[in-house]
Amino acid sequence: MSTTEFRDIRAAVTREKGAPFKLESARIRTPKNDEVLVKIVATGMCHTDMIVRDQYYPVPLPAVLGHEGAGIVEAVGPQVKDIAVGDHVVLTYGYCSHCDPCVTGHAAYCDEFYPRNFSGADNDGETAIQDADGKPLHDHFFAQSSFATYALSLESNTVKVPQEAELELLGPLGCGIQTGAGAVINSLKVTPGSSFVSLGAGAVGLSAVLAAKVAGATTIIATDVVPSRLELAKELGATHVINSKEEDAVERIREITGGGANFALESTGIPAVLRQGIDALSALGTIGVVGAPALGVEAKFDVNDVLLGGKSIRGIVEGDSTPKIFIPQLVDLYLQGRFAFDKLVKFYDFEDINQAAEDSEKGITLKPVVRING
Ligand code: NAD
Repeated sequence: MSTTEFRDIRAAVTREKGAPFKLESARIRTPKNDEVLVKIVATGMCHTDMIVRDQYYPVPLPAVLGHEGAGIVEAVGPQVKDIAVGDHVVLTYGYCSHCDPCVTGHAAYCDEFYPRNFSGADNDGETAIQDADGKPLHDHFFAQSSFATYALSLESNTVKVPQEAELELLGPLGCGIQTGAGAVINSLKVTPGSSFVSLGAGAVGLSAVLAAKVAGATTIIATDVVPSRLELAKELGATHVINSKEEDAVERIREITGGGANFALESTGIPAVLRQGIDALSALGTIGVVGAPALGVEAKFDVNDVLLGGKSIRGIVEGDSTPKIFIPQLVDLYLQGRFAFDKLVKFYDFEDINQAAEDSEKGITLKPVVRING
């Protein structure tokens, strides 16, 4: 009979709804089957970590969150084929690989997306992390739980990245950055010469601005309510910015585009902003919805405006990314100087993880990245 082996780790634990992350000693099981044990170098912090900490999405607690991990492979399970010890990797969302969306290249819409990313356990309902008292901590958040010195992922959500790229920077490519960039490139398929509006200039919205420039859009508009974010949007490629607190966003977008935008992306999660985006589309325009409000929130739109204008509204998860293809493409664009997502990032020490969360929520930091074994 084999005994389970564990490794000592430090983990940021979310013990109660809304409570600060608490750094604790814990232990993690060694990898089995197709699992990969990754020594985490740094993990990005995304709005989704906060909405789960605050239980908008009911992941069971106590839990180890963190879902934008980057690190070095420490050990692999016996079924792992293409990932080896020492590889530099970015961790992304979990998916099953065998449902219809997965086999047709749309893993972000996996039939098992919710359980594999938000159930707080692996697919068999088991956890791999225990606290200092030997009690289980919910984990497998986005098939990784990377607010910890080591994380267990699966081969399928572990993406090899080139060693010449700064590994500590790359974690956000696994979620927030691929969401904004992928929404523009993979989902909306923004075309050269078109007009694009990013409603919200947070980490997701600004990644979309960067990608719209790569895609060749010639009118790129960013809206936000934080002036410094609008300034950065201009630096990253926005041709126009709108402070929605000071100006009527719909009117200004129509004015700038001469009638309406061809493409828009909503990343604030605010229903009234989604409405602005729909109203500001041109005929046959498409808006992508990525901003995530609490479960059950509804939004309104003018049915005849959408109908007569031939407008499309589509939900987007993780930028429709096939991560093993799209993340290395984003790294290439970054290395070529064409995708400067590093301008969104500010680094924090692991001990300062709550400061990172606070700075993100106050709009001081766009994309906090927590250095863990850096
Ligand atoms: P963020 O908080 O950095 O960005 C939101 C931005 O909206 C902020 O800059 C904020 O100032 C701005 N804003 C607030 N009110 C506004 C208004 N009235 N008009 C214009 N802008 C306004 O968050 P983020 O990390 O960029 O994430 C954005 C959203 O995307 C979150 O809801 C997050 O949960 C979600 N998300 C979704 C996916 C997905 O797969 N669909 C993946 C990652 C993140």
